[in-house]
Amino acid sequence: FQGQLFHHPKETGKVNGLIVVLHDITEQEKIEMERREFVYNVSHELRTPLTTMKSYLEALSEGALQDENLAPKFLKVAQNETERMIRLVNDLLQLSKIDSKDYRLDKEWVDYIRFLNRVIDRFEMTKDESIVFVRRFPKQPVYAEVDADKMTQVLDNIISNAIKYSPDGGQVTFKVVLFQNYIETRISDQGVGIPKESLEKIFERFYRVDKARSRQLGGTGLGLAIAKELVEAHGGKIWATSAEGKGTTIHFTLPYDRDQKDDFS
Ligand code: ADP
Repeated sequence: FQGQLFHHPKETGKVNGLIVVLHDITEQEKIEMERREFVYNVSHELRTPLTTMKSYLEALSEGALQDENLAPKFLKVAQNETERMIRLVNDLLQLSKIDSKDYRLDKEWVDYIRFLNRVIDRFEMTKDESIVFVRRFPKQPVYAEVDADKMTQVLDNIISNAIKYSPDGGQVTFKVVLFQNYIETRISDQGVGIPKESLEKIFERFYRVDKARSRQLGGTGLGLAIAKELVEAHGGKIWATSAEGKGTTIHFTLPYDRDQKDDFS
């Protein structure tokens, strides 16, 4: 470090110079470490479905194809694994687009409650009948400026988790609370819950509380990381609260002006 300072005669204080250099290196190393970890994770996530497919295809070609019972089952496994890889690659492409910073939000003013209802209706039509949706929304329209496609994706990722981790007969509650400067949306389920030490980590790429369970449910481990990026791009925050064994609530905020003049009608 001293050497570096020597080559930068304009540095005024050695101590300051030293702090700057140390800081730069740690930051650089952190980025490099994260990058390596990411590549490792991606490779691993792709290898698992690929090895599974390989062994099932081998079994098929070694005779299982002639077995009326086994053949459809094995083909189904291969199909599921392919679908998982497609989901994973789509999620990765989405993240890569966000990371490259050349993407822009296409924001428009919408009645957020109407928008939310529409997204939830879509799930209501396809979900398992045993899961009950409850909506607790303000009665009046709530105008917010959002990129509807991106916010739909945020909601899709959160709602599909709430459904995935819900028990039969479980209730998923949607709540919107208005504050002076922001809207808070809460999506609560009555599922397995999340241990306290994982509450922040679930928004990291590839972090899962239970790897095997997430895989079995078809997860990619990227849904909440994407949701976080998109919420933050809107100027909001996202976090989780949970009572283990009782359920989870995902909260996110969006900028809002409570005193806004209603000039939309
Ligand atoms: P995945 O594809 O694994 O669902 P996500 O990024 O969507 O990936 O979520 C990360 C992890 O957070 C999940 O694997 C799960 O462990 C945990 N998680 C997310 N939502 C819930 C929920 N509603 N209830 C319990 N655990 C959850």
